[in-house]
Amino acid sequence: MNQNKTFINKNEAEQISASPEEIEDYNNKVRRNPSSCKPGSCQCCGFASDEFKKHDTRKRQFYAIVEQIIQTVIGLLIRWECPNCGKTFTDYPDFALPYKRYTVPTILTFSGFYTEDDQITYQGVNIKMPVAYQDSEKQMSHSTVYRWVTDIGNSTEIIQKSVDIILQADPMSKICRDIANLFVPPKKYRSDERLKILSQCRQFLKIQKLFNFKFGVKIFPNFDKFPSFQ
Ligand SMILES: [Zn+2]
Repeated sequence: MNQNKTFINKNEAEQISASPEEIEDYNNKVRRNPSSCKPGSCQCCGFASDEFKKHDTRKRQFYAIVEQIIQTVIGLLIRWECPNCGKTFTDYPDFALPYKRYTVPTILTFSGFYTEDDQITYQGVNIKMPVAYQDSEKQMSHSTVYRWVTDIGNSTEIIQKSVDIILQADPMSKICRDIANLFVPPKKYRSDERLKILSQCRQFLKIQKLFNFKFGVKIFPNFDKFPSFQ
């Protein structure tokens, strides 16, 4: 038995990735009823409308992790045409992000493994939760986790907007206090820039959990679907 797997309970394992079934469910919606996937507003000009026209459908490879094995699953994404600016843009289901093959739960979970444990290194994350490619000895690279932490930590605007929305809905919220002093161990950074990224990554992970809990809406990737932004 693989010793490493003893770290993982069923709950944790369920949350680390969108499942192939979830991706296929979305594909079926795209095939059968694309209008049910309509975006709230245009990603180019921000125009809110229910008059978006389907421009085309394209395929995208996703990596779904099942029992710590990375499976390639083909997903369908719709490009929409905006009736206001005439431009086309891709809309993403909750599990997907632009330019990313791994799904949102994977990106959030692995980033959290790194930032929420003061002792762990990037290599340590891969030991805690080893995942390997199907039909190959190759494992997910620790530089992948580094990049995810960087991307999330650079989401300054999303963090600010999310905090604003939470405070609008609940002026007594303690969110500002909760995210003000999140500790980052000095051994994890060598520059102020990296400190800021790690700190903001921790902030984002906290905020997105609260956001999801309060509003039942995921911050990633369709922030504009939230009513306040329409
Ligand atoms: Zn537009």
